Amino acid sequence: MRPVRKNACGTTVPMPETGDFMSNDYLGLRSHERVCEAAAKAARHAVGAGGSRLMSGDHPVHGQLEDALCELKGSPAALVVPSGYHANVSVLSSLTDKDDLIFSDSLNHASIIDGCRLSRAKSVVFAHNEVSELSRLLAEHRARADCAFVVVEGVYSMEGDLAPVEDLVRACREYDSVLTLDDAHGTGVCGKDGRGTLGPQVEDWENTVLLGTLSKAIGSQGGYICCSEQTRDYLVNFARPHIFSTGLALPAAAGALEAVKMLLEGAAPFEKLRRNVEMFAKHLLDNGFNADAASAIFPVILEKENTALRVASALRTRGFYVGAVRPPAVPEGLSRLRITVSAKHERQQLVSLAELVGREVTAWR
Ligand code: PMP
Repeated sequence: MRPVRKNACGTTVPMPETGDFMSNDYLGLRSHERVCEAAAKAARHAVGAGGSRLMSGDHPVHGQLEDALCELKGSPAALVVPSGYHANVSVLSSLTDKDDLIFSDSLNHASIIDGCRLSRAKSVVFAHNEVSELSRLLAEHRARADCAFVVVEGVYSMEGDLAPVEDLVRACREYDSVLTLDDAHGTGVCGKDGRGTLGPQVEDWENTVLLGTLSKAIGSQGGYICCSEQTRDYLVNFARPHIFSTGLALPAAAGALEAVKMLLEGAAPFEKLRRNVEMFAKHLLDNGFNADAASAIFPVILEKENTALRVASALRTRGFYVGAVRPPAVPEGLSRLRITVSAKHERQQLVSLAELVGREVTAWR
């Protein structure tokens, strides 16, 4: 057994309006009246799906949620699965075969890495967001693979930066590869009306798979895969995490459906989130940190684990709950604060936190 790091569950964090700067509830929808009502109404009928969706666990709400996701992303088809983790593992383990290649960004999320591990294809890792290196690797290796998959995130969960989507689409087109983009942190946060870093502008759904989670800006639980009809059919029949796991719980599906409807209607607080993100980026900059308003995730790199823990703890005593992220979530020597902004935050909270981070980081570094 390896030595145990001091990670533990158990910090009960209050809601954003009272100091939560570590959750991924970017739009505050997990406690929105419409989302809660929809989930509660579904729960009066049943909670669990009762089985795999291939057996008794397929319910009308799953199909309605898939239709709404197709509308949000502009995709011909969608498949809802029990989590974002399931989505990555399903796609990567079932769409690829032993004569294929996966080109994977070096900062991809653990669920993507695990999907690559479960795939029979060989993985080639390229430096984070370096499309020139990706193109060089595609030029070198593409010809010997049956199919090639380029796997990226729309917004990187620990960096908060965006994938260079247009360049990636171009490279995939040039080298006849499928682009698989995990927009877990982009949906509801980026793109026109919060539709994500990629979606309605996709031209070639035969060679694009967009996936993500319903547990962040959508405020519920579950995962989704937006793709062509043919890819969906294939996943339904071959994706083991989909086949052998119980379907998404009905209140979670109904809550997510309501949240997606709010995004489609323009009723979600997307503009407020964008204003908050821009305001916080400006105040972090004013306090001497690098920051841009690309996403709702703001990393403050402190290098040493202890410094990250001490600063996070000092902020907590002042009522600001901020994540101290350490290995294995980030590489050794790159421990950091991970601050997330929500539409529920108020201006004064954002200004005070930026100032306090400035003071505490100077004191502890
Ligand atoms: N992909 C990314 C980029 C994530 O950040 C996460 C969650 N941390 C997931 C997938 C997994 O999503 P879920 O929590 O729904 O399993």
